[in-house]
Amino acid sequence: MIRLEQVSKSYPHRPKPALQRIDLRVEPGEFVYLTGPSGAGKTTLLRLLYGAELPSQGRVVVGGTDLSRLAPRHLPLLRRRLGLVFQDFRLLPRRSVFDNVALSLEVAGVGRREVQRRVSEVLEQVNLASLAQALADTLSGGEQQRVALARTLAPRPDLILADEPTGNLDPDTALGMLRLLVGDCVGGATVLVATHDPALLELVRGVRVVNLECGRLEECA
Ligand code: ADP
Ligand code: ADP
Repeated sequence: MIRLEQVSKSYPHRPKPALQRIDLRVEPGEFVYLTGPSGAGKTTLLRLLYGAELPSQGRVVVGGTDLSRLAPRHLPLLRRRLGLVFQDFRLLPRRSVFDNVALSLEVAGVGRREVQRRVSEVLEQVNLASLAQALADTLSGGEQQRVALARTLAPRPDLILADEPTGNLDPDTALGMLRLLVGDCVGGATVLVATHDPALLELVRGVRVVNLECGRLEECA
């Protein structure tokens, strides 16, 4: 699903590269934790995977598409197969939970009845069915993050990239969020979660951990 070959990324006016000679393979359906301290290059790696940055060197292949060669006009097509989750949820504050999730399907051209069906289904999965008609800005942080997750899941992406998805949540709520990301509701998608928070790693056992230190990768046992 993901293949990085000798990927380096340097930013202008920065003496040190953000990423150095990264090799990484992630198989379809795999769950991977991307860890490392702040500034290690986690966000940069994710941005390369969703085409927000180009590598300075090396190849970035996502779902068989070589992003290092992709023309910008083809990017929207690729993004449709991706689901992104961020620390800040960016919900539409004065719209309902239902509408916030429905929008992600409407922009993808899904018909009205199918939108209804899928939004209801995904709200069940993230345990928000009872709040479907609540306005987004009346929800707690954990509930808002679950709406954001539902919005990401509804179009059924093949690959989910999450950058500090629990960054604004207390430990219990964060654990609930992670359990969703490693659980059935992602529908077999490949999932990459970046976090600087080592406490989170202990909460969910048995997943692959890839650690970045100063732009270099090491696999942890
Ligand atoms: P992390 O997500 O692990 O905190 P980042 O990928 O955000 O790490 O940052 C890695 C390094 O790249 C840092 O030194 C950061 O300052 C630098 N960096 C990130 N984004 C940019 C940018 N747009 N321009 C210049 N430098 C950047
Ligand atoms: P930006 O130029 O705003 O950093 P990127 O190119 O990184 O944007 O973002 C790629 C896509 O991800 C865009 O569609 C953007 O709207 C979306 N995005 C970026 N940050 C967030 C966020 N915090 N919440 C939701 N979507 C986001």
